[in-house]
Amino acid sequence: MTFSTDEQFAAQLDCEDPLRNFRENFHLPLGKNGKPLIYFAGNSLGLMPKPTRAIVEEELDNWATLGVDAHHAAGTPWYTYHQALREPTARLVGARPLEVICMNSLTVNLHLMMATFYRPTKSRFKILMEEPAFPSDTYAIKAQIAHHGLDPRDALILARPRKSEFAVKGEDIIDLIEENGDQLAIVMMAGVNFFTGQLFDIAKITAAAKPHGIVIGFDLAHAAGNVPLALHDWNVDFAVWCSYKYLNAGPGAVAGAFVHERHATNTQLPRLAGWFGNDPNTRFRLHLEPEFVPVASADGWQISNPPIFSMAPLRASLAVFDDAGGMEPLRTKSVSLTGYLEFLLAEIGSKKFTVITPRNRDERGCQLSILAHMHPKDLLNELEASGVKCDFREPNVIRVAPTPLYNTFHEVWRFARILAEH
Ligand SMILES: *Cc1c(COP(=O)(O)O)cnc(C)c1O
Repeated sequence: MTFSTDEQFAAQLDCEDPLRNFRENFHLPLGKNGKPLIYFAGNSLGLMPKPTRAIVEEELDNWATLGVDAHHAAGTPWYTYHQALREPTARLVGARPLEVICMNSLTVNLHLMMATFYRPTKSRFKILMEEPAFPSDTYAIKAQIAHHGLDPRDALILARPRKSEFAVKGEDIIDLIEENGDQLAIVMMAGVNFFTGQLFDIAKITAAAKPHGIVIGFDLAHAAGNVPLALHDWNVDFAVWCSYKYLNAGPGAVAGAFVHERHATNTQLPRLAGWFGNDPNTRFRLHLEPEFVPVASADGWQISNPPIFSMAPLRASLAVFDDAGGMEPLRTKSVSLTGYLEFLLAEIGSKKFTVITPRNRDERGCQLSILAHMHPKDLLNELEASGVKCDFREPNVIRVAPTPLYNTFHEVWRFARILAEH
């Protein structure tokens, strides 16, 4: 698409946008002037879909009127609540329904997956991840290494950007896999890096790891609901993600996990067991059958009974994705929206900032990370004062994420104008 800096052009793109009405489905936070903020922080906390309130209230009402009977009697019975999320979640990440489960939070799920898949031996004990990774992932991975009595200095390999670059070269990741192929137990990467917005080639990295017998897992915190995924076909072993960023399911929303069918159906795999991972048919015969019999699906990694009030918003948010026709049309708009933002930033041609997100659209989602050369905090404050909501990552990066569900081309245009006037 050929872009133009003309305001009229932005308005025209909005008119032609088949997803333009989805903005109406969200509560838009207002600025001091009473007008909606330019909300580019959906990579941090997505906005609230309007149907969410009713869906949460429905469960509060079920509790109020049915008490314990709501486990089995309500419209969406609590006992099997996760089943209502299964199919839409599977569609979103490109999985078979039995491969996904909504449970816990992201970092907890990462630990649960590592408990199953990180089985270090004397010769094969290393883990490869990218740097910089989100701190929680680094803490979790180092803790897992230490938990097995190993030293992260021996066991952790980091794929870093080359000198004076920001993104990690795909070929460097592949090279590290090849060089350490017989020592690597796990490759654990982000789908989209939280800092640079770089989208990794999940299929390619997975294909490189497989011949070496390496387990491959992905943290999709910034990928789920942002880019199309095909976890089953790509042959990924496991994945985890949160639901409060691009999935708009609210603060601390219940997270997701993917376990490939070949593992999900393997009830012999070790895991940190709890009663909700047990076969529902024998779950309550606790005194008769104390042996844990896992469900032969991703459900078998559940531990506790599900937190209904933080799962209910997921029903509302996943329905929005289905209504939009899934990730393909969203990605089409997202590529234009972010491409337009990149075009306008390049037009400003400022010496004051550099976009550190890859220029190739296949190597990014919707987020652009803007490195401010001077007084980054002042720039952020100025953006805030002008009604922009975005975020800041130390030491000098402003992350902006125009999302296709509720952002407009005109907002992108206004954002670029504010930045140009800075
Ligand atoms: C947002 C994010 C997290 C947050 O973890 P929680 O367990 O949900 O608090 C972890 N890892 C990555 C890569 C993230 O982007």
